[in-house]
Amino acid sequence: MRRDPATLEGALAQLEAAQLRRTRLTLAPLGHDGRRIVVPGTGELTDFASNDYLGLARHPALARALAECAAAGGTGSGAAHLVSGHGPEHAALEEELAAFTARERALLFSTGYMANLAVLATFAGRGEQVLLDRLSHASLIDGARLSGATLRRYPHADAAAAARLAGGYPRHTSLLATDGVFSMDGDLAPLPELAQAARAARAWLAVDDAHGLGVVGTSGGGTLEHFGLDAEAVPVLIGTLGKAFGCFGAFVAGSRALIEYLMQKARTYIYTTALPQPVAAATRAALRLAQTEGWRRARVLELTARFRRAAAAGGVALVPSATPIQPVLCDSPGQALAAQQALAQRGFWVAAIRPPTVPAGSARLRVTLSAAHTEREVDALAEALAVLIRAGGAAG
Ligand SMILES: *Cc1c(COP(=O)(O)O)cnc(C)c1O
Repeated sequence: MRRDPATLEGALAQLEAAQLRRTRLTLAPLGHDGRRIVVPGTGELTDFASNDYLGLARHPALARALAECAAAGGTGSGAAHLVSGHGPEHAALEEELAAFTARERALLFSTGYMANLAVLATFAGRGEQVLLDRLSHASLIDGARLSGATLRRYPHADAAAAARLAGGYPRHTSLLATDGVFSMDGDLAPLPELAQAARAARAWLAVDDAHGLGVVGTSGGGTLEHFGLDAEAVPVLIGTLGKAFGCFGAFVAGSRALIEYLMQKARTYIYTTALPQPVAAATRAALRLAQTEGWRRARVLELTARFRRAAAAGGVALVPSATPIQPVLCDSPGQALAAQQALAQRGFWVAAIRPPTVPAGSARLRVTLSAAHTEREVDALAEALAVLIRAGGAAG
């Protein structure tokens, strides 16, 4: 079908009618502490929609590292990593990320999306099979499609189904990939069982721990640390730097050979400009703070538990999640949008998540906690949700 303007307008009107059209607000950060934002036309709100779990995104040490690096060497990398864009801040950050994840080597990518495309398209191919959880992040799905391998998806967190698909299919399974922490649900993948399924099928297990690193595990080492899994059980680890680490970018960590091969082959690494060095410098500062200030992780988990207690006391039904991602299920996209607007009126910014981010027919509010929140803000949000549910504005 040719996409002439009338066709596009028609399609947009359909999205609008189904309450699936997305809008974009310009949200200005307010101050270095906390998660306060200014929304034009609405006023000052507390942001419960970011992935800044450790409260590092506005930390002055990151801003200082970024500014000093830019003052010394400029902003732009000027070229791809393999041309002339790779600098000392990139190199140091890669070494620090390898040490942090206890792997031989790490490779920086500009985004987690690109890192996932790289892993899937490099380590799977035509004639092979890739297995993904039904609730996998979009970038894993797109990577699997790009690879040319046959993509098969198992029911959410069902390792037995993954094992059956891996074993009962005549094609060679090259990769089993999963989120460590599911981005819209906050639950953890059953990694020990998935590792077993992958091992039995002689496939690699790749874990995208975008929401686990820095937050989950006794020292913030992520879902692998939580389950006590090493590089043999999970040969490919993907992490992002724009969430708990408050910056931008991503990395893949693994053995020396795995990373060297990825660097030679991954098109989303080779054919793109290197991340600005000042961003790498800021990320190094974030990684140091995440490791030395363990109170940040303890704090966000305490606030998460506090939110769950207060919400439950107010009759808000939460799904089981021990991470700072706390979904509140709604009956429909329209209800989620109305709830988002009602909460904004009361001073809270919470994301209404609609299809296709979540399966068709479902919708939710996605509350995320941060170490930067105060107890008072968390209690007030739980109270506002309870009021909303009593008024019938969200599924309780
Ligand atoms: C956010 C996210 C990504 C993408 O990372 P970006 O750096 O934002 O591109 C990948 N995987 C998961 C699970 C995510 O939540």
